[in-house]
Amino acid sequence: MSRSSATEAATETHAAWLAAHRAELLELVRELVSLPSENRPPRGEEGPCQLRVAAYLSSLGLTVDEFAPDEVPGATGHPAWWPGREYAGRPNVAARLRGRGGGRSLIFSGHVDVVPALGEGAHGYWDGEVEDGRLYGRGSLDMKGGVACYLHALRCLVECGAPLAGDIVVETTVDEEFGGANGTLACRLRGYNADGAVLPEPTGLAVCHATRGGIQYRLHARGEKGGMDFGGGAPPSPLHTLARTAVALADAEPARAAPIYQYLLHSGDELPWGTGEGTPASGVLEFWAEILPGTSRETLEAELRAIVEPAAVGGVRIEWEQRTRFLPAVDQDPYTPIVSAMRAALGDARAEPRVAPFASDAFMFSEHSPTPVVVCGPGGDNPHAPDEYVLVDDLHALSTAYVRLALDWCGAL
Ligand SMILES: [Zn+2]
Repeated sequence: MSRSSATEAATETHAAWLAAHRAELLELVRELVSLPSENRPPRGEEGPCQLRVAAYLSSLGLTVDEFAPDEVPGATGHPAWWPGREYAGRPNVAARLRGRGGGRSLIFSGHVDVVPALGEGAHGYWDGEVEDGRLYGRGSLDMKGGVACYLHALRCLVECGAPLAGDIVVETTVDEEFGGANGTLACRLRGYNADGAVLPEPTGLAVCHATRGGIQYRLHARGEKGGMDFGGGAPPSPLHTLARTAVALADAEPARAAPIYQYLLHSGDELPWGTGEGTPASGVLEFWAEILPGTSRETLEAELRAIVEPAAVGGVRIEWEQRTRFLPAVDQDPYTPIVSAMRAALGDARAEPRVAPFASDAFMFSEHSPTPVVVCGPGGDNPHAPDEYVLVDDLHALSTAYVRLALDWCGAL
């Protein structure tokens, strides 16, 4: 058999396996969603979900490597390490499917932590309810759906007995949300590097060679506490300054290429029975500002200061508290081989590579490892909100594409 007809035969076997195991892919997503791996810095609840992933990998006959990010030599002293997080009971998980040698190697990487469940929607957070082609739940889209797709693809490769030439590494990391990214860094420093990596953050099946970056700040405005103006003049409220700041950020947004999300605006004071207690001495405004590739941290900070500082009035002082690390934008060549291979695997080779409309820990690959990365995951909506969902059709399309990618990239025969 020629190489290409052998690959086609292998692909047919895998297609039959995927068709026969569709329900199990959804079950796997639902199971991962049902394990609430909320990240609440400095701690997180990823443990049970990681245990489940480890059991899945060992049931495939693979040796599972479990390690806390801060136990990896060189991790906590690395310039990209973000300090202050605690990793007891929340290991990274990784396993390697060894190839025969001579092929290109591939990493699938995804985070299992999710943002906390806040607010009520029509669907539960942990039930994995399926309705009208959508699978609902916290993390279904960001990003347990994508993680399940590559675990399922790996199982397909193992059970079909694919004679791959190159190695495949699968890893699930902890602590990505809130700019963590230490889990992904720790995998690189543990030695999991390859010829290409796939990160299935939700892109709606778009193939992304680049991503946005960003940073989160909390602004503390401080003034003078005072009562009401009985002729003596009330001191300017810090909340007034922060409201002006919020408007200035909103006004600046249309001219920007990327959004600024504003999260929090409140007085620092407890009000005993409501309003009318005079002027609070302090207030807080929190926001997350994103950037496109090509914008440095220095440029972003100068831009933000130019927006915020003129908003302060009446002697109110603004202090800047950095809430997350600066996540650099990823800016790789759109024709990086792993990007082109992912496009071909989706059967969508003509679609132009894009910039993913979010920041992620992809920069740990592009800036702190020798492994080029492509970001390509399923579609859905409401990430970081109630009623988060992933599209069921995308899960099937993606797991199929991951199998094809592995066969083409690593060499099927
Ligand atoms: Zn994510």
